[in-house]
Amino acid sequence: MKLSELKQVLSENNIRTKKRLDQHFLYDSSILKREVEYAGVTELDTILEIGPGIGTLTEKILEKTENVTVIELDQSFRKILEKLNIQIVIADALKVDWEKLFQEYETPKFNKIISNVPYSISSPLIFKILKYAPELAVLCLQKEFAERMVAQPGTKNYSRLSVNCSVRADVELVEQIPKEEYYPIPKVDSAIVRITPKPNAQRPTPNTLEKFDSIVRAAFQHKNQKLKKALMHSWKEFGAKQGRGEGATKEDVQKFVDKLGEIGERKVFEISADEFVKISKL
Ligand code: SAH
Repeated sequence: MKLSELKQVLSENNIRTKKRLDQHFLYDSSILKREVEYAGVTELDTILEIGPGIGTLTEKILEKTENVTVIELDQSFRKILEKLNIQIVIADALKVDWEKLFQEYETPKFNKIISNVPYSISSPLIFKILKYAPELAVLCLQKEFAERMVAQPGTKNYSRLSVNCSVRADVELVEQIPKEEYYPIPKVDSAIVRITPKPNAQRPTPNTLEKFDSIVRAAFQHKNQKLKKALMHSWKEFGAKQGRGEGATKEDVQKFVDKLGEIGERKVFEISADEFVKISKL
């Protein structure tokens, strides 16, 4: 699609793009096509697309499979989307219970997610996807966010997000998209990532994951400090989580920290996800 055609679709449908909903549209067919290719979509796949907008990416998905459900928050796109043979859910993708959605619509359960993600919901959406664990997700996100997702220990972008992604999935940054490819042009560049959640057998147990989350959260509040110090600095929050609301005392947290040994002396941003898992098992 040419930019002029995109503008025409918008004006014909009386649509004014809303900044508040991160409405920036990709229209270059070759980029959209590659995005679908990264997901390896075949006719056997059932796709969930989040934030279809005027459906340019949706049309590319439909070239590969006819099983597509979209969740779009802005109902002004409904009329355009109804021209496509898809299931349309007008709702906030974060608030919808994805399991129930498919009971309600009696569609087969989706196995892959594709989305040009509204920037402002990136973080909660990623956590929702990691929890739901589809076979695969291909997402276009703000470039800096994508870089944080794939960052390795000891590097500048290594963060709580990196650790959380790495323990639950394999994440690859597959392509960068300059902001000029969008209309209207956003403030930031984007990047496409492919997320392959790990099968349950390779993930830590829910109990370990819960502890993992609270340790990682507490530690990364002070990511340039030694782990020992960082956990002591966040002892209140960390202790409350471990004591399930009853609240462990500072002494309890101190006892735990003393058990850490050598790893307690390392800087938080140098500790790998696997090491955080080991720590959670303590
Ligand atoms: N997929 C289109 C549009 C991406 S813009 C393209 O590639 O060009 C992001 C889209 O997400 C917009 O259509 C916006 O209305 C929608 N959106 C924003 N917040 C949403 C939410 N919480 N749930 C579902 N859709 C949302």
